Amino acid sequence: MSQGALRETRTVCPYCGVGCGVIIEARGDEIVGVRGDPQHPANLGRLCTKGATLHLTAQPPRARQVRALAPELRRARDAPRRATDWDSALAHVAAKIADCVERHGPDAIGIYISGQLLTEDYYVFNKFAKGLLGTNNVDSNSRLCMSSAVAGYKRTLGADSVPTCYEDIEHADLFFFAGSNAAYAHPVLYRRVDEARRRNPAARTIVVDPRRTDTAAGADLHLQILPGTDVALFHGLLHLLLWDERSDRDFIAARTEGFAELKALVRDYAPATVAQLCGIRVDDLVRAAQWWGNARAVLSFYCQGLNQSTAGTAKNAALINLHLATGQIGRPGAGPFSLTGQPNAMGGREVGGMANLLSAHRDLGDPQHRAEVARLWGVEAVPAAPGKTAVEMFEAARAGRIKVLWIACTNPAQSLPNQRRVREALAAAELVVVQEAYRTTATAALADVLLPAAAWGEKEGTVTNSERRIARVRRAVPPPAQAREDWAIVVDVARRVEARLRPGKPSLFPYETPESIWLEHRESTRGRDLDITGLSWEILERDGPQQWPFPEGARSGRARLYEDGVFAAANGKARFIAVPYRPVAEEIDARFPLRLTTGRLRDQWHGMSRTGTLGRLFGHAQEPCIELHPAELARRQLAAGDLVHVTSRRGSLVLPVAASDAVRMGEAFIAMHWGPEYVAGRGDERATFGINALTLEAFDPDSKQPELKHAAVRVQKAELPWRYVVFGRTAAARQLALQLDVRAHYGAFGYASCVPFGQDDDRAGVLFRAAAAQPVAPRTLAAIEHAFGLEHGAAVFADARRGVCSRLRVHEGRIVAAALAGPAEAVRAEAWLRELLGKPPPLPAHRLLRPGAQPPAQTAPRGRIVCNCFDVAEAEIARVLAQADGDALARLQSELKCGTRCGSCLPELRRFLPPRPDAQDAAVSRPT
Ligand code: SF4
Repeated sequence: MSQGALRETRTVCPYCGVGCGVIIEARGDEIVGVRGDPQHPANLGRLCTKGATLHLTAQPPRARQVRALAPELRRARDAPRRATDWDSALAHVAAKIADCVERHGPDAIGIYISGQLLTEDYYVFNKFAKGLLGTNNVDSNSRLCMSSAVAGYKRTLGADSVPTCYEDIEHADLFFFAGSNAAYAHPVLYRRVDEARRRNPAARTIVVDPRRTDTAAGADLHLQILPGTDVALFHGLLHLLLWDERSDRDFIAARTEGFAELKALVRDYAPATVAQLCGIRVDDLVRAAQWWGNARAVLSFYCQGLNQSTAGTAKNAALINLHLATGQIGRPGAGPFSLTGQPNAMGGREVGGMANLLSAHRDLGDPQHRAEVARLWGVEAVPAAPGKTAVEMFEAARAGRIKVLWIACTNPAQSLPNQRRVREALAAAELVVVQEAYRTTATAALADVLLPAAAWGEKEGTVTNSERRIARVRRAVPPPAQAREDWAIVVDVARRVEARLRPGKPSLFPYETPESIWLEHRESTRGRDLDITGLSWEILERDGPQQWPFPEGARSGRARLYEDGVFAAANGKARFIAVPYRPVAEEIDARFPLRLTTGRLRDQWHGMSRTGTLGRLFGHAQEPCIELHPAELARRQLAAGDLVHVTSRRGSLVLPVAASDAVRMGEAFIAMHWGPEYVAGRGDERATFGINALTLEAFDPDSKQPELKHAAVRVQKAELPWRYVVFGRTAAARQLALQLDVRAHYGAFGYASCVPFGQDDDRAGVLFRAAAAQPVAPRTLAAIEHAFGLEHGAAVFADARRGVCSRLRVHEGRIVAAALAGPAEAVRAEAWLRELLGKPPPLPAHRLLRPGAQPPAQTAPRGRIVCNCFDVAEAEIARVLAQADGDALARLQSELKCGTRCGSCLPELRRFLPPRPDAQDAAVSRPT
């Protein structure tokens, strides 16, 4: 138990780009609580379920099991990695980088960083690559997330500047979500939209999404388009708006250019053609155009559904075209609002921390911009050739052209597409340096050097959220053990490298604090669109987070851009982009007949290195699966829970199927989070690497963002008749170690997954599920069951002839663990046995294990946890609703408290409610 007085520290949530303010409560060196910061303008005190559990993921007993606590180094590829001291690790990394530059040139180095780094971390990484080494091979996982939005804004508005702000939500009367499941991905923003709609019942919402997400289910109109057809839809809407004379001719004439070419192009996008291409009804297309044309203020939100595409830039531009053509920009409540996925994707863009950007929104291709940056940094030149972007960088490593990879704060062995090639790249590189807070990621396992980094709550610096708002990130506790702040690690390596490459010259990295780095960044923005020369850390301390631009002499930042109708291009005009619709990179065919799309779970974040440490965040979606429409399952003679091989042209994995009418016939969905840490198996005899074994590396020609949202796949029933499931309670302090122990056995099975569960310490547990073609060696099972404490004192039922062997352990009168092994019917009792965990056995333990044992009446499965804050499951909701009359939501909230704290479950709770007699059903436009 931590000691000392409670301290409060204001900082920012490290998950999504909403950028919510968080107040950390700490005692001694321990974070003991969090709450939303009521003074932070991004969230006004709200947090979603991920933000509200941040303190639990930071608690030392949990964190110690997963954090990287000391530098580790292996000096030869086949040697084990061993703990070392910082000096040895940094000297090794610096010497290898300097050697590589001298032998192969600077372009043999690749630096792959992250939108979760702070602006100051980003700045020094960028300067290290472009200023010191002389390579532009520095790219970020923001390439997988935002680069199409960057290209879309630059090509249309002239600069990478989000023109809108959160306040616009209160002024809009049409919300247009495209490729954004904000109810899951940006929950606090979605709640603000929800509240604005309730205050203004005349406001409407249109959602464009191939899946019926919670965001779509809450919309007035859901355009359930076929994957990748967004450009056709947007051109079709513009066609109708022009036909109905709903364009803003004065705005087009005075403020834009390129309209004639676009007008000629969209002539071909007649409603019938578009409806057929998109798989929606003509009536709904017409209705959407009418709503847009009649709206006073249209606010569009878009995210990965537009960005992660080989037509990502075209999709962004086609949506912005609609705003420009109707004058829906630069006014309260109007504009195209790109939602950033990561907490500091914006900050990374601002300092130019990508392979094709330079500091302060300068262009690498502009000689004057390169000269300005070189002057600012005090170097002779900045290299002109664009660096390798994310996919290109790993491909270059695979081909042997990049010899050293330095990866910071990201997990490319989970998140990049076509994992087989990524693994080949990591194996081919001469040195892989991983700078990470978590030693448990798939990438950390493959590092030659592991540099332990500080995590959320342990760092000082700044981030910028989706609405251009810069906020201070503050340290509440010191980093554990030997972990260090990212900027400090980079500066230490850089000083060692410059001693070799620039001997006798003054250091390019004279920084002693993150603020000193920020001041240099601030100066780089002078005169640029994101000028922050009027801002200081004192102002951020005194007045709180501020939006850019905030030039010298200004008293505040600017909430909304382009209100004067002058855009960021040299001539002040916005530009229409006329690009025709092109289909997805990989079309379905007879061999791969299903369209796989990917997306988020409500309570998980990216590769789950942090959220995956907390059992309660698995309550809403406990295990990996592939979702197919119920009719698709029937057509393929599959039942929910069956294991299937999911195979694309690049790889294969085994997953259970789940029935979901959120996807259409012919489509499939897998959550993006399920990496090799959580799901594994031999698949069709090839190694599997989680969801991104399937995705393809084809990318957008402008933004270089890969098409992670779509791949053609096939699904075939997996013949893995022997089933194995083990689950048990464990102390929270042992929960992660137990998972790591049993994951070591993944390779023995054709399918395996391992996840934590449970709300609180005394209910924490682990679930291991596996399957194989035939019974797995007893010694493997014994090792797994030993980890769960099942080897001694457990009741056993065995039938060697059928391969059945089940165990159940009761401790101090309560069931604490069970293992069920055998054919499918032998493990069927799992569903109700898990409900008995922590309870006294209702029958003698050996009788519970007998074939055909029936669940006691009171052990009906609770179903999934809908409300994490108050541990409310589907069964409890159904029970209350069965008795409810009047305001059913109010009854749920008063009886169960669900939806009364973080609000992340509210969209789903509304779907449980009986329709109000006066309510109109949301229209869903999908193929007939
Ligand atoms: Fe964090 Fe949730 Fe806010 Fe996003 S919406 S910043 S995940 S609390």
